[in-house]
Amino acid sequence: MSKKTFHTRIVIAFLVVMSFASLPFSSLGQKASPVAPTRAQVEAVVREAYEKFKNDPGGKNADYIPYLAKVDSKLFGIAIVTTDNQELTMGDIKYSFSIQSISKVFSQALAMEEFGPEVVFQKVGSEPTGRAFNSVFAVADMPTHTGNPYVNAGAIATVSLITAKSAEEKWQRILSFYSRCAGEKLSLIDEVYQSEAATNTGNKALSMLLAKYDRIYADPFESVDVYTKQCSVGVNVAQLARMGATLANNGKNPSTGEQVIKPEDVPYILSTMTMAGLYDGSGGWAWHVGLPAKSGVGGGIVAVMPGKGAIAVFAPPLDEAGNSVKAQKVIEYVAGKLDLNVFSPRSVGLKGE
Ligand code: GLN
Repeated sequence: MSKKTFHTRIVIAFLVVMSFASLPFSSLGQKASPVAPTRAQVEAVVREAYEKFKNDPGGKNADYIPYLAKVDSKLFGIAIVTTDNQELTMGDIKYSFSIQSISKVFSQALAMEEFGPEVVFQKVGSEPTGRAFNSVFAVADMPTHTGNPYVNAGAIATVSLITAKSAEEKWQRILSFYSRCAGEKLSLIDEVYQSEAATNTGNKALSMLLAKYDRIYADPFESVDVYTKQCSVGVNVAQLARMGATLANNGKNPSTGEQVIKPEDVPYILSTMTMAGLYDGSGGWAWHVGLPAKSGVGGGIVAVMPGKGAIAVFAPPLDEAGNSVKAQKVIEYVAGKLDLNVFSPRSVGLKGE
């Protein structure tokens, strides 16, 4: 062997060793991936986003549910949970807020556990409505009178589909399923439930409209009541990120190791999140961010990075469509800096240089 070949081999061996040496630091759930950013990089970007948007004045708390109007609008928390169960949190991470519409993702998942994706697609659908989340026109105008499981009408229809002997049993099934997705026991914030139950005439009207078109599959008002409870489940931002990470991890909760959602159901759920997760803001979100996500009027948004993990942000002030302003900005910033957009080949390391 010539001296030069020997030297080249040493250099190659050194590079191979170095590439493995960097593995334990890799983050975003890609243990063996050379394109995963390091934990330090992720942390730096999240901190930048936190500082940059902490005092953002945009948006205002939802007030059509009286309880939500009173929540401190300065609360601000960020959490990332990866598919290899690393956790990174910042800000107000202990505060339990109502999950609101983010619950709709997990009830869709539960209905699919029971009936499979085709039945849920036929009975509830996955079409963007281009309307506000509580729109009656979306029900009346769409030929299928369904829309998707993330607008209120579709979510109430989804709840009606889940089988149980009584409304109480259905509610307990839903709560226990959410808890398994979060890897911790979740519970109802009773004050939120009471506040919404006293003011939800619009949702009751939607349930009757669904009944007119045979698009609700159990007692309409009972379905609205269970739906109102599911929206009033309390989560902190880390629990929400873990629920998202369960989706990112093919339905297996990365902290408990439990297969909560069938792996084959996950792509359907993520596609609905892409189409309708931010209601009539979904097109803009897909354009600017490119991550399946779901928002709730409580101020939470969870975005899923398939195979990598999930990022959840909580900040109560909302835009016109009902999506947290700060949460959108943080996720857009982090996804941009870390190349997370699923529509971009850069998200799997193809840089194009
Ligand atoms: N519980 C709320 C409602 O029914 C959920 C809406 C939301 O989060 N967008 O209006």
